[in-house]
Amino acid sequence: MAHINDHYQKLQAGYLFPEIGRRVRIFEAANADAHVIKLGIGDITLPLVPAVVEAMHAAVDDMGREAYGYGPDNGYAFLTEAIRDNDYRARGVDIDLDEIFLSDGSKQDSGNIQEIFGTDCTLSVTDPSYPVYVDTNVMAGRTGEADTEGYYGGIVYLPATEANGFTPGPPEGRVDLAYLCSPNNPTGAVASRENLQQWVDWARANEAVILFDAAYDAFIQDDSLPHSIYEIEGAKECAIEMRSFSKRAGFTGTRCAYMVVPKAATGKNARGESVSLNTLWGRRHSTKFNGVPYVIQRAAAAAFSEQGATQTAEQVSYYMENARRIREGLSTAGFTVYAGEHAPYIWMKTPQALSSWEFFDQLLEKAKVVGTPGSGFGPSGEGFFRISAFNSHENVDEAIERIRKGFAT
Ligand SMILES: *Cc1c(COP(=O)(O)O)cnc(C)c1O
Repeated sequence: MAHINDHYQKLQAGYLFPEIGRRVRIFEAANADAHVIKLGIGDITLPLVPAVVEAMHAAVDDMGREAYGYGPDNGYAFLTEAIRDNDYRARGVDIDLDEIFLSDGSKQDSGNIQEIFGTDCTLSVTDPSYPVYVDTNVMAGRTGEADTEGYYGGIVYLPATEANGFTPGPPEGRVDLAYLCSPNNPTGAVASRENLQQWVDWARANEAVILFDAAYDAFIQDDSLPHSIYEIEGAKECAIEMRSFSKRAGFTGTRCAYMVVPKAATGKNARGESVSLNTLWGRRHSTKFNGVPYVIQRAAAAAFSEQGATQTAEQVSYYMENARRIREGLSTAGFTVYAGEHAPYIWMKTPQALSSWEFFDQLLEKAKVVGTPGSGFGPSGEGFFRISAFNSHENVDEAIERIRKGFAT
């Protein structure tokens, strides 16, 4: 008898995006000529930039000329050196090449990293948060059952609220693994240097590890804000960082990301001895992963070339112009809106104290606009709604206009 992993049965049914898709399909079936504008899922809408496409074509030709078999475990040096120089050295941070682990996505990385930690580790998430952090720990058996509000036993939820600017500080009780995401999906909030310093000081004092998801760092508009947690004093001892080419260079369908595991970061074994997390993750990575395709690594490296950097920055600006229009448009229309200044997401309060899903249905009905219910990202997201800036200027303008009309008071 193949006994299943019972922890999977604790996962809450109706994952957010399938449920959104279901409701939209029902609406579209009943309103055949409606042009529904989708500001829901966090996916890019612009094509790959020319510099990246050229590099991919050239890399395909390389592979037709000679054999490119398995690449180096951690990625080709032409890419990891570009990462080290552009993402870190340029911001005054020294990262060694063997601290960078190339992968095919931050979803995988943020879901897999928990494997190198004991199942008895306690964890915290900011609430709401990217669902992968919670669900992968549920699957691994690190939690109890979910209660009626959606809180899993054994997870410390740190509410991200208007009062704390949606950037909660560290927990009071014992936590071993703390997930942080800045700029944040879904709230769009960005952590200040002071907030991150509090976290790092806490982690060092408590021998905890911070799992820092920086998938949206390229959207930070104020250069004085930290792009990497390693810009914070002491972070190399206690933090693992994840970055992705998905949002910054339009790679959601192309797949390339990386994780930095500093050699100074450690955990404890059963005898209480310090063990290098870099060694553990290297062992895990080389056992379960055979590398990012050569063509994709060439494409990712092209995002750092002079032209590639300019072209991808233009795409980020395009999305951030959408974010500005949404923020200003909705705020002028009387909605309470947050964020969208350093992230492609606007976090809005639902009007008239509607629940997140009630507002979802009304928005679809009255404005034919799709967004994402905040409650889908965690209990503290209830009463909030995420609007994504990934769309065209035209669709964004049209959506704002329809929302204004549909919800005129
Ligand atoms: C989009 C996103 C990622 C990136 O995932 P990939 O697997 O690299 O495409 C990671 N974390 C968050 C919070 C995201 O929104």
